[in-house]
Amino acid sequence: MRASQQSVSLAQGMWRGFRMRCPRCGQGALFRRFLKVADHCPNCDEELFHHCADDFPAYLVIAAVGHVIVPAILVVETAYAPALWLQLFIWLPITTLSALALLQPTKGAIVGLQWQLGMHGFDASKRRRLVPSQSRISCDDLAVG
Ligand SMILES: [Zn+2]
Repeated sequence: MRASQQSVSLAQGMWRGFRMRCPRCGQGALFRRFLKVADHCPNCDEELFHHCADDFPAYLVIAAVGHVIVPAILVVETAYAPALWLQLFIWLPITTLSALALLQPTKGAIVGLQWQLGMHGFDASKRRRLVPSQSRISCDDLAVG
């Protein structure tokens, strides 16, 4: 059995999604274009269109970027009190670019989470992943008392 076919932990599925790779195989591209999840993995053909990330990635990115940028703005304002135009010139691009840079990986991580937990339409995929390990019968199972 290849490593990509072994069971995928929640952290592994989310990390693969964060890296914008298929949560199942970790090889195929998760997105077909910016923020648009591919219908199927080009490598393992896993169905990916079941995701339902909605606005959750955006909320996470706002919270993460806000918790870094706002304290940084306050520190700079307290220490140097630069002009408002200079603050806007510095912080608006940093905020925008960091939010855009984190948005797609965060959405990928959410898709990986939903895939690994079998949420929404991923439940059939999760059942398929679990069946082989549960249906394996060893020789000990067949031995009579
Ligand atoms: Zn795949």
